This record gives sequence, C-alpha cells and structure tokens, in this order.
Amino acid sequence: MSRVWLVLVALAVVTPVSAAEKPNIVVIVGDDMGYADVGFHGCKDIPTPNLDALAKAGTRFTSGYVSGPYCSPTRAGLLTGRYQTRFGHEFNGAGADVGLPLTEKTLADRLKAAGYATGWVGKWHLGNADKFHPQKRGFDEAFGFLGGAHPYFPGKGEPILRGTKDANETEYLTDAFGREAVAFVDKHKAKPFFLYLAFNAVHTPMHATDERLKKFADIKDNTRRTYAAMMWAMDEAIGKLVAKLKAEKLDKSTLIVFFSDNGGPTMQGTTINGSVNAPLRGSKRTTLEGGVRVPFVMSWPGQIPAGATFDAPVIQLDVLPTALSAVGVEVKADWKLDGVNLIPHVTGGAKGVPHDALFWRFGQQTAVRKGDWKLVRYDATADGGKGTTAARLYNLASDIGEKTDLSAKEPDKVKELQVAWDEWNKGNVAPLWGGGKK
Ligand code: CA
Repeated sequence: MSRVWLVLVALAVVTPVSAAEKPNIVVIVGDDMGYADVGFHGCKDIPTPNLDALAKAGTRFTSGYVSGPYCSPTRAGLLTGRYQTRFGHEFNGAGADVGLPLTEKTLADRLKAAGYATGWVGKWHLGNADKFHPQKRGFDEAFGFLGGAHPYFPGKGEPILRGTKDANETEYLTDAFGREAVAFVDKHKAKPFFLYLAFNAVHTPMHATDERLKKFADIKDNTRRTYAAMMWAMDEAIGKLVAKLKAEKLDKSTLIVFFSDNGGPTMQGTTINGSVNAPLRGSKRTTLEGGVRVPFVMSWPGQIPAGATFDAPVIQLDVLPTALSAVGVEVKADWKLDGVNLIPHVTGGAKGVPHDALFWRFGQQTAVRKGDWKLVRYDATADGGKGTTAARLYNLASDIGEKTDLSAKEPDKVKELQVAWDEWNKGNVAPLWGGGKK
C-alpha cells in the first residue's frame, strides 16, 4: 500500500463523515412576494431568471405553505421547525420582551452544535432586545437589521448591524445583503456552513434604484414598477450567491431552500407593494391561500430531482428537519417538531405524503388543509366584509381560488376538518403578545 493510501485510510478513520458528505445549508427567504410574481409561476412582467434557474436545478413545490400570514410568525416557525402557536409566537409584536421565546432552539443552534459555521444576513424580526439577537440564537455571524422593515437607501432607519455594531452601510440594501452572502460563502467555503439569507425585499417601503426602474419603464403602475425593480434586485443578489457557490464548486454540496415569508399584501391595512397572488384569493394577513401559499423551491443537485414539481402540501416548518437530516443530525422526539424531512418524499423513497394535514391559527382566523380540502375562517375585509367569517369549505383541487363554499353541501367534511383542527389546537398556547401591523 502506498504512503498516500495509508494517509487516506488514516483520515477516513478519524473523520467518519467527510466535509463532502456534509452539505452546506442555504435558506433564502423573500418578503411579501406575490404567488404569481415569479417566472416559474408564469409571471410575465417581472423576469426572475435566477429564481427560475434555482427551480430548474431543483424541485418546485406547487403547494408550498408558510405557517404564518405575517413576517415574524413565519420566521419563528422556520427557525424552530414548530408551529409558532405552540410557543405563543402567533403575531408580530413590538417591545423589549417580544421576540422568539428563549425556550426555543433554532436551526442555527442545531447546526452550530453539529460544527457548522452559521451566519444570518438580512431581516431578523425575531426580537430587538439583546437577548434575542441572532448571535444569541445560534448565529456566529450577523449582518442586517433587527426590525420588520427598513428603507433601502443608506442613512435612514435603524442601524444595519454587523454583529452588534453599526456597519455604516453605504449600498442599496438588497445589494448589500447579496454582497454579504457572497462574502460569507467565501469566508467559510472550506468547511460546512449554514447561511440564512432573509431579504426584506419586496416588503415596503417601495424603494428601487433608478437603473433598475428604467428596466421596467413599460410597467405603467408606479408601485408595480418599483416592486418589479426591487424583485429584480433580489433575483440578481440570489444569482450572485448561486454563481459564487458554483465558482467554488460547492453547488453540488449545497442544499438551497427558497420561499416567501407570506403571500403578497394586496388588501387595505397591509403593506401593499403591487404584488399579485393570482390565481389565489386573499392577501398577506389572511389564512386564505393568498396569505399562506407561496413560491417555494429546494435545490440540491444530484440529491433531489432537478426540474421537478412536487404537489403534495409542504410547509416552511419542514426546512429544519430536512436540513438536519441532510447533514446527519438526528431529530429527537422531545424537540416536538411539526415539520418533516422532505428529502425521502421528493426523491420518491417515502410512502404517502409529508403531512396528513396542515394547520393555521392567527387570532380568530384559522385554517386546516387535509388532502384537497380546506376549512378556513378568514379576515372578511379581504373581500369587502367585516371581521372574521364563519368557516368555509373549499376543494382546492377544483377551486384553487377558494370561490365556491361547499360547507353546506359537505357537512361531514366540515366536521372531519374541524375535529382535526381542534385536536391540533390542543397543542397550542395562548399568544404571548397581541397582533400588530406589518
Ligand atoms: Ca412578510
């Protein structure tokens, strides 16, 4: 046996799992995107070539959901793998004691414990107080802002932080987040890393660069034009990150997930940004499909199918167990996760569907999706009414736009779904703080 082989054998003994077998994890979150507003959902006026390429390189989820119709609850669910109503993070909120409860461990905590370099770039929205800072929630490195929204041009709003200090950022914010994401990859390319890149694009305020606005001069509506330019900026930033991974030959060893934190805000009283949720009905802040069904893709070349679609319902709660499974961390029962590992489902190895049912609670608004059926109580201001309506039943297979209420025709189905929701709700707690805007 040659000396080289002896060395290799020795390495194999001391390092049972090689770096190549431990993929990098990149979770990219868009903010307030409309379901219709990506090329891979057929959008015509706003090109998203880099997001489309990501979808083509991986699997696109046609029934991809988030557990909250608002920014902060969705992020709480994402980073814990648990319905945020399990631990009282039901609403957005403000104040020193409002933040992802310290009882909860994050995906960053879990991956850091597995030896990963962990970094957050972008919008946090899981608490402004020191105790909630990303670097106290498992992230080694932090770059971004702690609140729920931010002006895009430098010099206004809360500080853009590097760690806990003002970074004195000088770039358009989406460009800055793209730059920092690339720099994080560059810094940690030799070892497995986890990057959580949470854009505030395309959330209000509506700010875009002149150069990008010019590109969309054909769009007459000013808000829609600005939204398009902001989306283009985010798509460019994602393109730069993916190009960096390819340049470092890390593309095949990186699991990338992308989704929007909630649906497009289209109704009065929300952060209206010119987004479109068609063919879905409803808006951010509702439990209708328009509030919680979002563009959702996952890519891991060679490991999950490319150019594929997956139609059974999945949810952002699945990101944590999927990522942990990919890196070989065993999920413990006492973590009480609600998400499941999606990899055996997308590769066809698993029987059945990832979830028997998915559930939502957002104050008086509720929903349950079981198979093609959905029972929903939604904010009736979404369709010109007042308050929260009675439960409506829709069959999403034939009625994705939730137009025809079948509750009177299908009382047994209403009962079945209500029983399932009631059972699920027993595992929830009262909200720790009240509802808020944004
Ligand atoms: Ca949002």
